[in-house]
Amino acid sequence: MSTSQSRTRAIAEITNRVPVPALTPQPLEKIWATDVFNLATMEEKLSKNAFKAMKKTVQTGVALDPATADVVAAAMKDWAMAKGAKFFSHVFYPMTNITAEKHDGFIVTNAEGNAITEFTGSLLIKGEPDGSSFPNGSIRMTNAARGYTAWDPTSPAYIMQTANGATLMIPSVFMSWTGEALDKKIPLLRSNDAMNQAAQKVLALMGETEIATLNSSCGAEQEYFLVDTHFANSRPDLVLAGRTLFGAAPAKGQQFDDHYFGAIPERVQVFMQDFEDKLYRLGIPAKTHHNEVAPGQFEIAPYFEAANVAADHQQLMMTLLKNTAREHGFMCLLHEKPFAGVNGSGKHVNWSVGNATQGNLLDPGNTPHENLNFLLFCGAVIRGVHLYGPLLRAVIATASNDHRLGANEAPPAILSVYLGDQLEKVFDDIKDGKLTGSMQGGDMDLGLTQILTFKRDPGDRNRTSPFAFTGNRFEFRAVGSSQSVSGPLVAMNTMLADSLEWVAENLEAELKGGADKATAVIAVLKKLMEEHGNVVFGGDGYSAEWHKMAVEERGLKNIPTTADALGAFQEESVKALFSNTGVLSDTELASRYEVYAEQYILSIEVEAKLVVEMAKTSVYPAALAYIKSLSGANAGLSGLSLSLDSSVLESVVAQTNALLGATDKLSAAVEKHDFESTEAHMHFCAHEICPLMLEVRGYADALEAEIADELWPLAKYREMLFIK
Ligand code: ADP
Ligand code: MG
Repeated sequence: MSTSQSRTRAIAEITNRVPVPALTPQPLEKIWATDVFNLATMEEKLSKNAFKAMKKTVQTGVALDPATADVVAAAMKDWAMAKGAKFFSHVFYPMTNITAEKHDGFIVTNAEGNAITEFTGSLLIKGEPDGSSFPNGSIRMTNAARGYTAWDPTSPAYIMQTANGATLMIPSVFMSWTGEALDKKIPLLRSNDAMNQAAQKVLALMGETEIATLNSSCGAEQEYFLVDTHFANSRPDLVLAGRTLFGAAPAKGQQFDDHYFGAIPERVQVFMQDFEDKLYRLGIPAKTHHNEVAPGQFEIAPYFEAANVAADHQQLMMTLLKNTAREHGFMCLLHEKPFAGVNGSGKHVNWSVGNATQGNLLDPGNTPHENLNFLLFCGAVIRGVHLYGPLLRAVIATASNDHRLGANEAPPAILSVYLGDQLEKVFDDIKDGKLTGSMQGGDMDLGLTQILTFKRDPGDRNRTSPFAFTGNRFEFRAVGSSQSVSGPLVAMNTMLADSLEWVAENLEAELKGGADKATAVIAVLKKLMEEHGNVVFGGDGYSAEWHKMAVEERGLKNIPTTADALGAFQEESVKALFSNTGVLSDTELASRYEVYAEQYILSIEVEAKLVVEMAKTSVYPAALAYIKSLSGANAGLSGLSLSLDSSVLESVVAQTNALLGATDKLSAAVEKHDFESTEAHMHFCAHEICPLMLEVRGYADALEAEIADELWPLAKYREMLFIK
C-alpha cells in the first residue's frame, strides 16, 4: 500500500471508528479531589498536632519539623497504598518545559526475606535522582551528577492512575549538590517570597496593621489542537516536532469564524468529559471549555489557584491532555503554531496577588480612585512591565512561540500594558497630580423588557495587548501554549517585588516629609507614571502604527525572535533584579540563558533535519511519480499526434528542481557548527536556517497544490483540521 493510500484508509477508519463511550457522569462531590492528599484528607488522616503544623506550612510557608514529616510520610503511604499505589515519585520541573519523575517502591525486605513497606520523613523530604541528564546550563559537569529533589509541602501530593497501576506523586523542587536551582519551582517559590516581603512593607506604610502572608495567584487558559491519530501518526513532523513543517492552505480555513465558540463536536465532548473527570479527581478545578478560533482548536481554563499549585496543576494538565487525547484516538498538539495560516495556540496567564487580610490587591472595587492600596499595586505592575519588558519577552521566548507573536493573531512582540478606559483615566489624573473620580460602566439596557439589565464593565477588553488588566488581575497573553507558566510567573512576581520596594522607599520618604496618605500616594504614583507611563497603551496592538510609535516615540522594544530576546537574561539590570530579590543568583540566571538558548537551537535543528528528510523522502518521490505519469500520458498521446499542454509538467519539474536546490542549501546549513558564540548560533538559526526551511516549504506546498491527490503522501490540512 502506498502512503497516499494510507491517507484514504485513514479517512475510512475515522469514518467507521467505534466511538469511545461517554463516561457516566459522576456527581462532583463524589469525585472531587479523591486522589489528592490535600488539607481535607490530612485533617482526616493526621493527628491534630501534625495537621496543625502542616496547615501552617501550607498557608504561610514556615518550615515543618522532621518529626511531623515522619508522621505525614507514614499517613501518606497508608493513604496511597489503600488506593493501590506501590510506588512513589518525586515530581519535578527541570528547566525545560517538561515534568520529570523517578519512581521508587515502598518495598524493602527484612532479614527473613519478607517484603515490608517503608516510607519515612526523610524519604519524603529528599530524593536523589541521578540528575546528570537534565539540562543544567553548565552548573555541573556530567561527572558531578548529584542532584536532589525535595518535597514541596505547599503543593499537595496526589495519586497518578495509569493503566498499569497507581503511583503516589510528590511535588518537589530540584537542585544541584551545590544547592543551585535546576528547576522552575525554586525560583517561583522564591519570587513569591520576595513579592510578599516587599508587599508587606508597602501595606505597613499604608497603615495596615494586620497583614497576612501574600501569595500570587494564577489561572492559565490552555489552548490546544486535536488531530486524529490516524493522520497525526502518518506525519513525521507532527510526531517529532509537534507541528506541520509542510502543508498547503486548504480552500476553507478559519475565514468564516464558524468554529469559535461553536457547538463542540460530539467526539471532542466525550474526550473533554473524560479529561475533566480526571482533573476533578486530582483536585484541578476545570471551569471553562470551548472551541477556539481555528478549526480543530479548543481551550480549557481552570479556576485560579495559588501560583505554585496552579503551575504544578498546569504541568499535570498538559500531561493529562496528551494522554487522555491518545485514549480517544487524538493527538493533542500543544505547539504554538501547528498549522501555518490558521491561528496558533497561546496560554493566557491570569495573575494577581493577595492575602487573607487585604484580599486581592489588584481588585479596584467600584471606585478605584479611592482604593489607594490598589493604585499602588497596579502602578507597581506598570513600572515593572516598563522596566522589565525585555525580560517578560525573554521568558516567553521559544522557537515555537516565535511563530505566533506578532503574527496578527497573537499579541505583538512589544510589551505594553492595557488598563481599560476607567483606569487609564485614573492614572492620567494622577499624572496631573489629582484623583477626581472613576468612570462607571453604567447599566446595560437593551430596551427589551424580557432581558434583565445588568451592570456593564467600566472598561472594554483589548485582545491585541500582550499584558492587559482584566478587572481584578492582569492577563499576560503572550505566553505560549506549550510552555510552563512558571517562567512568566517568576518574572511577574519578581518585577512586582522590585517595584513594590521602590514604592515603599518613595512612600516612606513622602510620609516622613509630612504628607498625608492620599497625598503621598499621588506623589509617588505621579513620579512613577512620569517615568513609566509610556508603557500604557490602549489602542490596536496589531497595527503597523503602533509598531512604529512604540519603538520610535515610546522607546519600547520590539523583539521579534528568541535569538534577540534571550539576551535579556544577560543584561545587568536583569541580573541585579534577580540577585537583589534573591530569586536567582548570577550563576543560576546564566545557566538558564544557556539552557533556553540550547533548547532553541536544538528545536530548530531538529525541524531543519526533518524538513530535509521529508522533502527528500516524501515530497520528491511524489513529484517524480507525478512527472512520470504526466510524461507517460504525453508519450501515449504522441501516437495520435496529440500532445498535452506542457505547462503543468514544466511547472512541476521546475518546482521539483527548486525544492532539491533549497533542500541542499538547508542541509549544508544544518551541518555548520563552528560558531563563535551561542548567540551567533541562535542568530544563524533565526536568520539563515528558518528562512531556508520556509523556502523548501514554499516549493513543497506549491507541489502539493499541483500533484495528483492520490499521489500525495502527507495528510492534508483539510483532512487534519476538519475530519473528526
Ligand atoms: P477569558 O477567556 O475571558 O479571558 P476565562 O474565564 O477563560 O476568561 O479565564 C479567566 C481566568 O482568570 C480563569 O482561570 C480565572 O479563574 C482566572 N482569574 C480570575 N480571577 C483571578 C485572580 N484574582 N488571579 C488569577 N487568576 C484569576
Ligand atoms: Mg483570557
